[in-house]
Amino acid sequence: MRGAVLYAPGDVRVDDRDDPKIIEPTDAIIRLPATCVCGSDLWPYRGLDAAQEPSPMGHEYAGVVQEVGGEVRTIKPGQFVVGSFFASDNTCELCQAGYQSSCIHREGVGGAQAESLRVPLADGTLVATPDLPPDDLVPSLLAASDVLGTGWFGAVAANVQPGKTVAVVGDGAVGLLAVLAARQLGAERIIAMSRHQPRQQLAREFGATDIVTERGDDGVARIKELTSGLGAHSVIEAVGTQESMLQAIRSTRPGGHVGYVGVAHGVELPGEELFFSHVHLHGGPAPVRRFLPELIDLIWSRRIDPGRVFDLELPLEQAGAGYEAMDQRRAVKVLLRP
Ligand SMILES: [Zn+2]
Repeated sequence: MRGAVLYAPGDVRVDDRDDPKIIEPTDAIIRLPATCVCGSDLWPYRGLDAAQEPSPMGHEYAGVVQEVGGEVRTIKPGQFVVGSFFASDNTCELCQAGYQSSCIHREGVGGAQAESLRVPLADGTLVATPDLPPDDLVPSLLAASDVLGTGWFGAVAANVQPGKTVAVVGDGAVGLLAVLAARQLGAERIIAMSRHQPRQQLAREFGATDIVTERGDDGVARIKELTSGLGAHSVIEAVGTQESMLQAIRSTRPGGHVGYVGVAHGVELPGEELFFSHVHLHGGPAPVRRFLPELIDLIWSRRIDPGRVFDLELPLEQAGAGYEAMDQRRAVKVLLRP
């Protein structure tokens, strides 16, 4: 099969790779009608998580089950399924508490920018759709696998509540879908922080009521201005840098919540400032599996359309050009068609 491989920073190529096979009896093999590039794939692409050897890329997936191992009970060949970047048993104490991305048996799923994929712990990881989806729902179901699930977790971790004010730091796909999540969870005022006109527009379509173009201390000051000097009740951090994390914490009112879902790179928090902030911090790799049944239902009934974050579609063979477009911020999110 064909699949995208990162050889070195800035160097993604589509190669012949071995077809995935059942290794453990709890595995499933799924065929991918579409795949995509994640903002977090840009960290290694930019050389920030330097891989020592060529790495198959991609961790977002939805597709049709081709084959299952002998111990798979609920997932069947022919089903259309959505999973997440961490496989989970969905039965251990941490999974039952809703933290499947910390499952005691968790396993990373990688190499999803390809024609097909092996998914471990199929019964615990995969959620089947009610039927085979119409083609136009595939991008949204694929978005549920990571960026929507992650944005949703950011909103839940930030304790978004009906009638409250939410600010979102970051205008990538996760930030934009955190806006959508905040809207669905009933927030009254949703402030999207973005300097890019097309992203501001999408944020508004997803439910943002205000746009703040300033960053850093100026961005914090603007959020305070919009909230009677107090800060937002809930702030979702969807970048992962020192600046974005401090911007999120400082934009939150005392007693408020930060949900941080940008993969942290070099973030160090000042303890004394944190102590006096009275802010709740919660985040981490999203337990997407917790939210998948609800997200699939919202997509299936066409109440949300998260697939609109895909603003560039390319053949899988042009994955390298897709990475380049996202790296240069010419695209919010790239859909790849095997
Ligand atoms: Zn578990």
